[in-house]
Amino acid sequence: MGDSNNSVIRDLQESWGKSREPRSCSVCGKPMQYMESNTGKGSWVCFDCNITLKTPSRSTGDFPFSKRVPRYFVHGIVFAVLFLLLEIFWIFSIVFLVMIGSFIGLIIGFAILFPIVGGINTVVSKLVWGFYMKSSLGDIFLHGFVLFIVLLIVDLVLLIPVMAYPGNLPITVVRFIVACFLYGLIGARLGEVWEE
Ligand SMILES: [Zn+2]
Repeated sequence: MGDSNNSVIRDLQESWGKSREPRSCSVCGKPMQYMESNTGKGSWVCFDCNITLKTPSRSTGDFPFSKRVPRYFVHGIVFAVLFLLLEIFWIFSIVFLVMIGSFIGLIIGFAILFPIVGGINTVVSKLVWGFYMKSSLGDIFLHGFVLFIVLLIVDLVLLIPVMAYPGNLPITVVRFIVACFLYGLIGARLGEVWEE
């Protein structure tokens, strides 16, 4: 592909912006074909001119505010439910691993925890927002590591009012609602970082 073709592609991508409308090739005028990679990332291709346009990444900001807020809750709740299920599996595995070899078992336990967290958020980001996610093991591990640390901090902060007023139902309920929203907000914003 020559320099002129590269600049044509750049112009097309800039003019395309956030829309995902079918396109006709600006060089030959024929309709471009839609192709999807195995990660679900779509692109438009003109085989005659050998031009490929990747569909632009989405962001949570593409959604109007009225649709964004409920989606944060959905993201947070789905994430929390999946995490709870896998956490039970994880606790059993870590007990087993520690029984085999205490310290090594603990390290392996954390080594599998981060890809679990990253994997869940990758799936949920795709389902709730339609993101095209990077899904190599390294990406999922790093994604899970960062998300785990941030959510741990959030959880510890949210624990303060619950510890201060133990057994207080309104505070427990408000904490749950705030936690679902924050899980979704943080999960979605971090998910954007690992978009393809
Ligand atoms: Zn063409």
